[in-house]
Amino acid sequence: MRPEILFPLFDAPLSLPGIGRRLAPLIEHAAGPHIVDLLWHLPINLIDRSARPKVSEAVEGAIATIQVTVDRHIPAATKRLPYKVRCFDETGFLTLVFFHPHVDYLKRALPEGEVRLVSGHTALYQDEIQMTHPDYIVPLGEADNLPLIEAVYRVTAGLTPKTMSQAVARALSHVPDLEEWQDTALLQQRGWPSWSQAVLKAHKPEGREDLSSLSPARIRLAYDELLSNQLALALMRAYLRKTGGRSIKASGALAKTILSHVGYQLTGAQERALNDITKDMEAPTRMMRLLQGDVGSGKTVVALLALCHALETGAQGAFMAPTEILARQHFAFIEPLAEKAGLKVALLTGRHKAAERRDILEGVASGAIQLLIGTHALFQEGVTFQDLALAVVDEQHRFGVHQRLRLQGKGGATDILVMTATPIPRTLTLTAYGDLDVSRLDEKPPGRRPITTRVMPLERLGQIIDHLGQAIQEDHRVFWVCPLVEESDVVDATAAEDRYAHLQEIFSASVVGLIHGRMSSAEKDAVMADFQSGKLKILVATTVIEVGVDVPEANIMVIEGAERFGLAQLHQLRGRVGRGARESSCVLLYKAPLSETARARLTMMRETEDGFRIAEEDLKLRGAGELLGTKQSGLPVFRLADLQTHSDLMAMARDDAMLILSKDPELLSPRGQALRTLLYLFEREEAVRYLRAG
Ligand code: ADP
Ligand code: MG
Repeated sequence: MRPEILFPLFDAPLSLPGIGRRLAPLIEHAAGPHIVDLLWHLPINLIDRSARPKVSEAVEGAIATIQVTVDRHIPAATKRLPYKVRCFDETGFLTLVFFHPHVDYLKRALPEGEVRLVSGHTALYQDEIQMTHPDYIVPLGEADNLPLIEAVYRVTAGLTPKTMSQAVARALSHVPDLEEWQDTALLQQRGWPSWSQAVLKAHKPEGREDLSSLSPARIRLAYDELLSNQLALALMRAYLRKTGGRSIKASGALAKTILSHVGYQLTGAQERALNDITKDMEAPTRMMRLLQGDVGSGKTVVALLALCHALETGAQGAFMAPTEILARQHFAFIEPLAEKAGLKVALLTGRHKAAERRDILEGVASGAIQLLIGTHALFQEGVTFQDLALAVVDEQHRFGVHQRLRLQGKGGATDILVMTATPIPRTLTLTAYGDLDVSRLDEKPPGRRPITTRVMPLERLGQIIDHLGQAIQEDHRVFWVCPLVEESDVVDATAAEDRYAHLQEIFSASVVGLIHGRMSSAEKDAVMADFQSGKLKILVATTVIEVGVDVPEANIMVIEGAERFGLAQLHQLRGRVGRGARESSCVLLYKAPLSETARARLTMMRETEDGFRIAEEDLKLRGAGELLGTKQSGLPVFRLADLQTHSDLMAMARDDAMLILSKDPELLSPRGQALRTLLYLFEREEAVRYLRAG
């Protein structure tokens, strides 16, 4: 249950005075559904009204707050002309200018002969010092209502800056005093204010330095958010470890047999990772490990061998991929190997006939099927394992923490191995996978040759096509990726279809294939199979091939509209080549003119194949939220913490969370109680459920 003291913060903005049915949805859209979201909606700028010149000293175009006496109202001669109110001080006249005036209001606000404070932009127009539509008009007695430094908020359509700041101001009046959850020594040492002071201060900047993400108030709030994230992950991890652990002790004989059929030796990195994994599996606690390895580093075989350890003991395994193409690819790789060892493997995707699906489910439930490979269909209700010991989740960035939990719920005692091809910078690993131990494949399989990457303008398309003609004569195989026109399968598909038609005209129609998200799975399978077998030489594709696709014979990659892709995506796409023995190349085709960031991205691609360097650079160019495409990544979205400027805080929060839980695992001490409030404040209440006395 949410602590009562937080109730007011979790009301809807509609409950605030002055926010009615019309404004409420707009505010919710801009900030979020609760009053607390308005607190997190920090100013992005400020207006400084502290300049108090005399009329004659007013600076053209600047914001000034000026004390004047109202001289007289000058109604407009025609509707087109503005209404004017002439004012003055001892140094000269200031004309207030109003278009489409509410005359009644102006008469009330600016009675002739009275003194007023007005604040707004001043301008010189036809020898007149003017202020058009002053932001503030207040009597001297109400000068307090005129903020000399005004916070400016991000607004969305339908909202004015003023309504937004009023809404925030009202929300601020709900800020409760909360028991301190941070270590008091830390607060002192860093000079951080209390939570409520930090919120108020962040919304009432006194100067530009207060807008900086490094101001004490903002750092404190960011740290609160990061600590809540790390504490929630640590609680989840502690809970999962405690529950449902089991010891899988295998001799490794099955893995050895399978590896002998695979036909190559593991790299040192693969050995080390497999060793980490089997150690975890042997331990009585539940394994929760992330296997991180750049594209092409050979994660699949590590997963397979880990699964062998589970299967050897007579238990079951599950292997889950983010797309059907990938699930099929894993199945195609694993099934023949498993067959040699007498193991039964099945593929479960979203498209089985009812009877077929029932057979598979029965086989899984009875234990007749030892290894189930599939897509997210594995999460679905109705899939019950007889004894699931290890679940492997491939290309994890497409799944979120919650899906991970659902999978964990599938087995009484299931070890979890998560694999990601995206080389996530360390700071992000902590936020997304803070609940996991990490093994890295930091070495590629031997014999890989560097990929030559060229960046070229689209005008040179003809030249590239000439070159491809020769390449396919020599039996090279080509991925041709079409631009991501919009976040729309339909539009992408059309672009790809056009290029497909074009290339079919140039080369023989029978050697050019097409694959995109709008095709049926069966069509996609057929095309992939033809490309794999070499019947097709050029595969025109949308980003459906982005992750995981492994066709070692493909060694030329053309990416059209490369300027539209993010760095991580370009790296993933390029990772489809350079897997075989032949020299590989990648052409990044762009449409001029290039924006500065696009140029930086393409240059980076040309300079390096190192996924970690690329990921770090990507973080710089794009910011964390966008890095993995937050929506699909399951990465937490931070409102206050900026993973770039606050990156040192993340590691600190992780250590802090561990220390807290080592001393007070159930959060029962007074500080523990305050930390529970923190979890609720940042809506991480699901973590509280993992506490015994939650
Ligand atoms: P990813 O880590 O991107 O999922 P894959 O598992 O698809 O990489 O492996 C990429 C390619 O490298 C595959 O063709 C695979 O057969 C090959 N491979 C993996 N490990 C080795 C190894 N130790 N030696 C040689 N080739 C390997
Ligand atoms: Mg893979």
